[in-house]
Amino acid sequence: MSHSPDATPNPLVIRSLEFLGGMAESGGWRPPPDLPEVAFAGRSNVGKSALLNRLVGRRKLARVSNTPGRTREVNFFKVNDRFVIADLPGYGYARVSKERRASWRPLIEGYLGGSTALRGVVLLLDSRRDPSPDDLAMREYLGELGAPSLFALTKIDKLSRAQVATRVATLAQTLDVGEDQIVLTSAETGRGRDELAEALEALLEAPPWR
Ligand code: GDP
Repeated sequence: MSHSPDATPNPLVIRSLEFLGGMAESGGWRPPPDLPEVAFAGRSNVGKSALLNRLVGRRKLARVSNTPGRTREVNFFKVNDRFVIADLPGYGYARVSKERRASWRPLIEGYLGGSTALRGVVLLLDSRRDPSPDDLAMREYLGELGAPSLFALTKIDKLSRAQVATRVATLAQTLDVGEDQIVLTSAETGRGRDELAEALEALLEAPPWR
């Protein structure tokens, strides 16, 4: 269920979604930074496409982002003519060489370090796994950058209540983040969709940090 009508009002009603294009390399083409941007990052297979689909309620987003050639780009989507989702390429795919694995850094860090429109970053982490070295590097980078950040635990439907509590406590400590920065999500059940939408709104409404 993406949103039940008898619950609190949907914090993010999607009226339009437009693919603006992809940024293939650091310093390469990107859309003009006219609207505030929120970036979504995470390792490959973390469930980013599924969660973004759930957030916007359209398959279009994942369809574009998973198109061969676009999987290694930063893909930009304009939402409601009001803000932009920057879908960062999934990093750390286990089956590519170590050299290729590190290749995500220039593009992702180039975008995050350079976008004047960036209002915040959502880092997705698989709730069933310990953070990978890449996840930790990403978290560290966000800390250095000073960008407002949220941590979305994905696939939470796979864990029991007790496992969730332990996972949240461990992650908060490992990543050095407050539990209030952690959002529990499941693209499968829709859990956390509205909390994530609300947190996005807060990022968009906050004064620019850079
Ligand atoms: P991406 O590479 O980060 O875009 O990951 P995908 O969205 O393609 O998801 C990777 C795999 O995880 C797929 O097999 C999904 O079906 C599965 N998956 C994604 N989200 C969830 C979730 O919330 N719960 C469960 N159980 N599986 C999920």
